[in-house]
Amino acid sequence: MAPLTATSAAREILTRLHDVMASRSAAQTKLNQVVQIIGEALGTEVCSIYLLRDGVLELFATRGLKQAAVHVTKLGLGEGLVGTIADNVETLNLDEATSHPDFAYKPETGEELFHSFAGVPIVRREKAVGVLAVQHREQRKFDDVEIEALQTVAMVLAELIAGAGLIDESGPGAQGARDTSPVRLPGLKLVEGMARGKAVYHQPRIEIEHTVAEDIEVERHRVISAFAKMRDQIERMTREADFGAAGEHQDVLAMYKMFAYDEGWIRRINEAIDSGLTAEAAIERVQQRTRMRMREISDPLLADRMHDLEDLSNRLLRIVSGQLGTAAQLGLRGNSILIARNLGPAELLEYDRRRLKGVVLEEGSLTAHVTIVARAMGVPVLGRVKDVRRTISDGDALLLDGTTGSVVVRPNATMEEAFEARMVVGQKRRAEFAAMRDLPAQTTDGLRIELMINAGLRDDMAALDVTGADGVGLFRTEFQFLVSATLPQRERQQRLYKEVLDAAGDRPVIFRTVDIGGDKALPYMNKADHADEENPALGWRAIRLALERDALMKVQARALIEAAAGRTLSVMFPMVSEPWEYDEAVALFEAQRKWVHGRHRPLPNLIRYGTMLEVPALAESLDMILPKLDFLSIGTNDLTQFLFAADRANPKLAERYDWLSPAILRFIGRVARETRAANVPIGVCGEMGGRSLEAMALIGLGIDRLSITPAAIGPVKAMIRSLDAAALRAKMGDFLARPARSLRKDLTAWAESNGVAIT
Ligand code: PEP
Ligand code: MG
Repeated sequence: MAPLTATSAAREILTRLHDVMASRSAAQTKLNQVVQIIGEALGTEVCSIYLLRDGVLELFATRGLKQAAVHVTKLGLGEGLVGTIADNVETLNLDEATSHPDFAYKPETGEELFHSFAGVPIVRREKAVGVLAVQHREQRKFDDVEIEALQTVAMVLAELIAGAGLIDESGPGAQGARDTSPVRLPGLKLVEGMARGKAVYHQPRIEIEHTVAEDIEVERHRVISAFAKMRDQIERMTREADFGAAGEHQDVLAMYKMFAYDEGWIRRINEAIDSGLTAEAAIERVQQRTRMRMREISDPLLADRMHDLEDLSNRLLRIVSGQLGTAAQLGLRGNSILIARNLGPAELLEYDRRRLKGVVLEEGSLTAHVTIVARAMGVPVLGRVKDVRRTISDGDALLLDGTTGSVVVRPNATMEEAFEARMVVGQKRRAEFAAMRDLPAQTTDGLRIELMINAGLRDDMAALDVTGADGVGLFRTEFQFLVSATLPQRERQQRLYKEVLDAAGDRPVIFRTVDIGGDKALPYMNKADHADEENPALGWRAIRLALERDALMKVQARALIEAAAGRTLSVMFPMVSEPWEYDEAVALFEAQRKWVHGRHRPLPNLIRYGTMLEVPALAESLDMILPKLDFLSIGTNDLTQFLFAADRANPKLAERYDWLSPAILRFIGRVARETRAANVPIGVCGEMGGRSLEAMALIGLGIDRLSITPAAIGPVKAMIRSLDAAALRAKMGDFLARPARSLRKDLTAWAESNGVAIT
């Protein structure tokens, strides 16, 4: 018969296949029936099915070729036309098979009678598990309608084959030859560290269970309602993304939106349903077709769009199939390395920390919330990794190397050994650091440095005991706000602060009031307030926002004051630019203290107030603010971005300015001198203090307290315990008087010649 359209051709075949699949006959019998049905429906003289077994494509069923060739004819991946189709996961349509350079003659099949040849891959999880081929005596290409029908049928075959257990899905053969070789993908180091584990996609791939529709109207409705849900989701993400909290980028969302309302896409899915597919299979079928088309176009812009459409198609599949869970909700099974385009901090926190060993992101930046949270969790993160989906399959072995900034996919034994050796060195070093846990952070000339950790989550407090740190020099209270779906109420805040103080025991904790707004704005805050900030880091954030919308800070002040009843409370304000901002913040806290006192509730024994110095302007007003301070802490992350006018989130600038440049060191040196002269304790709580050479320089400038990421406590303590602080301080003036572009070289040389342990 001559089919009129792809839809009707496929539908006829699918209707008949439905009965075959539902029958209880053996898999081989089913395959024999399938080739008959397809051959009859398309009027082709030959129809054959090749399946991948033990890494080779084996003829499993045929109508038209010699039956003696079944289970005898075998082709390697890339061998012959069939092997080429499977290897490239692409369709071939030829009027003369023998003229194709990859043609391989298999005499046992008797195929010399046939000239034209068309084959489509049978695809499962984006890899070919077999090939469906048709042949004609006549020298003519198959028309688009026939190819379309074959591709649709191939989808259904994939289900039949998997259901019958005809392919070994775990074996190397099922993976396709190209995908078993090791690949090294470079990326941007976001959180250092080494990790080994199996690849787990944050949004797991949906397994399509049924491809042939029982009732086409039902399938059509399922797709319509899934589209409606998806559009709702995108609208919601767009609203949230205005605050940078959704983990999804604005322009990506704009693209999502365009596709979600694209009539062409919806029409193609509906046509696929008309041909007899279920909603899931129709979505996947359209996606497969797009993938094949896009593969022929090498335009990076289009590749990006393809990526977006792929995301959206997966989202639609999840909605329609009701399989909405992320890998976190499904539960990690072993040591895992999570793969995602991007993540929100809350999504990351849903994962089992014992099994989550690392994260690979296609996007991501150094100051993204997810990075801050991952650093706090001690989970290495590699960002901006390209070609992730094409290269990494669920379950692939991965070696994430935070020192080289790369991830090795499916490593070979040599790579494993090299990685293992580096891990061992790292572990040995960590063991050495752990052995210093109870030794004081004291220089060789007897100067005791206060070595504290930066924290932000309840679980971070465990690091105090593990590292033997002196306390928490920066508790970022906004973390609780960032990881909550709604504004944390006072009781919840108070509970966290009390738990933190309980965990710290006698060790001091400096709570920083919320540093939100700008790029750390919250989804549940008023959108209009942040709508047009072009430079969020310089925007309405931290103390600026807190003083104007003081309800937020009042609640936090009460929560802190009540949580610290009977103990010392240390409070620090972020982004103070002028002394009056500090005065107002202290006044607000004092008013709350009076309020609590008025209600006869227990108060802290002492409240100590301090400020961050991260806005350079404050350095010009030190004489005005110092007399009022109990302590000062330099936040080098923001300070350096403001001092150099260089966005700390911009990877292009990441290596441009050195923390050991004369400008930064002179600036910090001056602030340290003035602050010490006023007898105000001074510390540094930015990332700079977590590197041993930088930490040494800070001590050289007169800093006696460092608050750093917990993983850095060991290396920095080792440095301190081998340092003669007085000798360095005596030398620092010389270094700064005639500095090179950076003091890195001079300081490294000095450390080497003075036996200072720098990692
Ligand atoms: C800083 O800016 O240096 C700092 C410690 O604060 P945050 O990184 O939270 O902005
Ligand atoms: Mg800061």
